[in-house]
Amino acid sequence: MAETGAQTREEIRAVLETFSHTPRAHVQSFGCQLNFCDGEKYKGILQDLGYELTDIPEKADVILFNACAVRAHAESRVIGRLGALKAIKEKNPRLIVGLCGCMAEEAEVRALLKKSYPFVKLVLGAGAMERLPESLLAVYRGEKHYETLAFAGLPDEALPTVRESGFQASVPVMYGCNNFCTYCIVPYVRGRERSRRPEAIEQEVRGLIEQGYKEILLLGQNVNSYGRGLDEEISFPALLRRLDAIEGDYFIRFMSSHPKDATPELIDTMLQSKHIEHHLHLPVQCGSDRVLKEMNRHYTLERYLQTVDYARQQSPDFGFSSDLIVGFPTETDEDFEGTMRIIEYVKYDNLYTFIYSPRSGTKAAEMPFVSTQEQIAARMSRLLARQREISEDFNKRFLGKTVRFLAEKHDPETGLLLGKTREGLVLEAAGTPEDVGRLLHVTVTGVKNWALSGRLER
Ligand code: SAM
Ligand code: SF4
Repeated sequence: MAETGAQTREEIRAVLETFSHTPRAHVQSFGCQLNFCDGEKYKGILQDLGYELTDIPEKADVILFNACAVRAHAESRVIGRLGALKAIKEKNPRLIVGLCGCMAEEAEVRALLKKSYPFVKLVLGAGAMERLPESLLAVYRGEKHYETLAFAGLPDEALPTVRESGFQASVPVMYGCNNFCTYCIVPYVRGRERSRRPEAIEQEVRGLIEQGYKEILLLGQNVNSYGRGLDEEISFPALLRRLDAIEGDYFIRFMSSHPKDATPELIDTMLQSKHIEHHLHLPVQCGSDRVLKEMNRHYTLERYLQTVDYARQQSPDFGFSSDLIVGFPTETDEDFEGTMRIIEYVKYDNLYTFIYSPRSGTKAAEMPFVSTQEQIAARMSRLLARQREISEDFNKRFLGKTVRFLAEKHDPETGLLLGKTREGLVLEAAGTPEDVGRLLHVTVTGVKNWALSGRLER
């Protein structure tokens, strides 16, 4: 007979009662915001089972690495850190070491763990998050437990969550991706697009705002395709309007927007809203139409720039940030000049830059490189140096203006608060520890690289 969830939980609790100390769990997430958001659910499940959460791996009885598959370099670092856990495992034979998340979906990774890291007894793919209790129980019964699941559905809305912050919350609106950009492993490890019901999202966001959360980050691989496949007809701008109508003082941010699906309606919704940031993360990836086609991105630079121009016509201060890949296999010096032209034109506030990393199973991994790694590294250095100057120069548009700012941290040594403005810019201002988690008014007095500095208006 299949065990029910309640039965499994009871059995795990019975195991934990045999411990001579409080059972503890350590969850470490790597990679994108969505992975961190999943990490909060793994923590919620473990806490619900009776584990106390700890930041110290040496004190834990369960260590879960929730890792990202997007770039090979990050994966190798996780494998290295997993290897280092062997010493902890030798001192504590009852310790369960597990790998979960996108990285655990990869057959190559699972094979490597089986062969070279036999002390990793629990491997749980991103689609199998809810199976954590069953997996733990199997390991307590002496089995190795490797599980990945087909991604047909959505995580249970009732999964418990342990939020890292008391004022910033991530809320997934959809899971998976249908786009199959030729360089990207995400559709293979996260499955096809599935959207959460708008009522469930609204209820969660409303609850967070009532609890005092000041920043809601809506997440999805392409939030602009939110709603496809739901019975109820709803677009992402319509969802945004629904959330923006919730009473309170808070910011709504979101990522990522695929440029092929970004519309004037999205920009209008943002600019007409009370709470949504005036900043769009719109990953262009590359400044060459030929390369964009080979990346299977489904937009041209002309189409991309129409969105940028539209937003800036409505609001000249509107900010953009982007992801850029340098060194896609067929990228030439000439293609890269296109990327340099794009950053000059758009004047991004911030760039997330990545050296292309071949991912097995993707189309681009089969393409031969036309440039050397030295050429690619030189392109990246040039891009970063120029972007620093562009951000610093363009951010001067805020000098003397008063903006809203969410204070995220306070440095006791300098007395400075660090946080972000509604336009998504990093800002520093002198303040007190009590200001952390508050939405404040700040007059911008300086610009330093890509960050602003300012004075709080009390
Ligand atoms: N869905 C989002 C989108 O399309 O904008 C991005 C999700 S992906 C996890 C984040 C970024 O990682 C991508 O925008 C891309 O720049 C980068 N990325 C993805 N695959 C990569 C690869 N194989 N090598 C280098 N960077 C990669
Ligand atoms: Fe990857 Fe492209 Fe999907 Fe983004 S849209 S997750 S880059 S396949």
